[in-house]
Amino acid sequence: MRNEDLDPQRSRTEFARAMIEDLRWLGMRWSEGPDCGGSYGPYSQSERWAHYREAWRRLREGGLLYPCTCSRKDLALAASAPNDADDEPLYPGTCRERDDVAEFTEPAGVNWRFRVPQGEEVEFADLNLGQQRYLAGSDFGDFLVWRRDDVPAYQLAVVVDDAAMQITEVVRGADLLKSTARQLLLMRALGYADLGYAAPGYFHCELVRDAAGARLAKRHDALSIRHLRERGMTPEKVLEMAGWP
Ligand SMILES: [Zn+2]
Repeated sequence: MRNEDLDPQRSRTEFARAMIEDLRWLGMRWSEGPDCGGSYGPYSQSERWAHYREAWRRLREGGLLYPCTCSRKDLALAASAPNDADDEPLYPGTCRERDDVAEFTEPAGVNWRFRVPQGEEVEFADLNLGQQRYLAGSDFGDFLVWRRDDVPAYQLAVVVDDAAMQITEVVRGADLLKSTARQLLLMRALGYADLGYAAPGYFHCELVRDAAGARLAKRHDALSIRHLRERGMTPEKVLEMAGWP
């Protein structure tokens, strides 16, 4: 159980406590986690900052990152290609060739982007959905690895943690398929294979949807485990609704 609590705006200890309680109620069990320890801890991302900074430093020294000072408005104006609603817009590359990287010695204060190998095909065999192929530079652009408010981006944090925790299989929603291509590039850039860590297997599942077919989001709070539980539903019934076999 890894608690992904990097965003200080959205992470509070009572949320983490409620999540653990709800999952235990549902019948989920784990052998390592923030509540029970383990040999790959700590298990809350907010306590793993040193790992992410070290990865940022290595990528920056390798010339694989660059600082981006584009505003949200610049990016909105530049976004032309149609893109997934789920996904960050394709970055137009405005800051890619800037020559002042040496002046930025700390991650905080600007956004940092990963320089993707333009035109390279990233392929992987998904354990559920089969062979997947994405083109770096057109399916996704130079993506964020560190935010100007000094928070590592999801892409960087999960890659660093998956390697450090020796994760062998990742099961997650199909909305993250394209992120897998990004993460494979990050793993390669960080030289994990040479350090003895092979990329995990990936199994992307269909998303759980509401009766009208819309994917579940915050506005579906009535369908949260907590609410269903308070309304007297059993764990078995909740799993059945979610399509558990
Ligand atoms: Zn920029």
